[in-house]
Amino acid sequence: MNVTPQEIQSAPPATVAAMASKLRAAGLRPTRQRVAIACLLLDGRHRHVTAESLTAEINASGMRVAGGTVYNTLNQFTDAGFLRRVTVHNEFSLFDTNTAHHHHFYDAADDRLIDIPSDDVVLSRLPQAPADHNITGVDVIIHVTKK
Ligand SMILES: [Zn+2]
Repeated sequence: MNVTPQEIQSAPPATVAAMASKLRAAGLRPTRQRVAIACLLLDGRHRHVTAESLTAEINASGMRVAGGTVYNTLNQFTDAGFLRRVTVHNEFSLFDTNTAHHHHFYDAADDRLIDIPSDDVVLSRLPQAPADHNITGVDVIIHVTKK
């Protein structure tokens, strides 16, 4: 799901104000970049983005934001609980706008995650947690390839 450049530049003033107060409530100063990223990611749509994909999307709109700024903002939003980081493997993680518990299909051909509702995965048996540990969550990533 791609956002058009117009959506970034012309977020309704009410949306911009709502995002700015959401950021302030989380202790983040509502800079122009943060508000633009919030308008893109925190509008209720479920998306998976990387710092690279989001930087490209923003720059395509004509707004200039450095990749490092986007990356830092994504991490700040994750710390604030607005996003969830999904680590697929060592070198690759995405930021998920759906913070409710769910699982993923992962297609390595295009580095794409597809949501799986939490209830669609049933685990019949889990190993014992290591000594002095409790299991606090299970995130399933099912690797898929095109037929
Ligand atoms: Zn997801």
